[in-house]
Amino acid sequence: MQTRRIGAHLSTAGGVEKAIERAHAIGANALQVFSGSPRMWQRTPLDRVDAKKISSNQEKYDVKPIFTHALYLVNLASDNPELVDKSLKALKHDLEFDAHINGAGVVVHLGSHQGRGFEAVKFDLVKHIATVLDQTPVNSHFLIENSAGQNGKIASDLTEIRWLLDQVKGGERLGWCFDTCHGFAAGLSLNSQKNGALDQLENLDLFDSLRCLHVNDSRDEFDTGRDRHANIGEGNIPTTDLQLFLNDQRLINIPMITEAPGFDGNGPDEENISRLKKITSENK
Ligand SMILES: [Zn+2]
Ligand SMILES: [Zn+2]
Repeated sequence: MQTRRIGAHLSTAGGVEKAIERAHAIGANALQVFSGSPRMWQRTPLDRVDAKKISSNQEKYDVKPIFTHALYLVNLASDNPELVDKSLKALKHDLEFDAHINGAGVVVHLGSHQGRGFEAVKFDLVKHIATVLDQTPVNSHFLIENSAGQNGKIASDLTEIRWLLDQVKGGERLGWCFDTCHGFAAGLSLNSQKNGALDQLENLDLFDSLRCLHVNDSRDEFDTGRDRHANIGEGNIPTTDLQLFLNDQRLINIPMITEAPGFDGNGPDEENISRLKKITSENK
């Protein structure tokens, strides 16, 4: 049996190789990072990212895969050409970073249609995602993340993700990431209910293209559309539902990354990882 990959989004202060050590120190064996500050367009030049050190630390500590999270400023659905331009540039950098560190993909919040509706922006999204893929290394990956839905955020409805995957035809290079907090907040129950998350993944044939699970509890209640993460077991997602979801046979090989706030407020920590280990090793 393959070991489950349970990781965390961690700081890269001191380099990605340091983040790998931090992951190991909290009991994680997978990782997600930003390629630079998530709130600034400025990116760290790739020649300052030591791919050799990263890969040797990955071997040493058995921390793999590594996902990259795109910066929060990205909006591929904006009607402001300047913002779209900056977004494309930042995403190209992130996919180059992903290829450089031999990562498993860049997780992207596509952005908001700002009230115009998905229909109004969907062909622009296809064009922009295809452009990013065209202009980046073939060993990089673009992963669309589902959203909680508030303020016109794209992809709270999984049919949008299905449609985009079909239209872009990015093959192996285009996949998606399911965030449990966002799904719950968007009205997808994590138990086996009809039309819940598992049911929709099955009906929309979204298991094969799923590359990453973001495992976060939700500070807000079911179907509120809000994106506020809670520590595992401390939010509104029933732990039995989360357990049922994560132990579904179709998901057990998908790496998990937590972006929980942490019990001391400093981000994902040992307690969140150990709770995830606990709920994924029981009741198989
Ligand atoms: Zn997430
Ligand atoms: Zn979130």
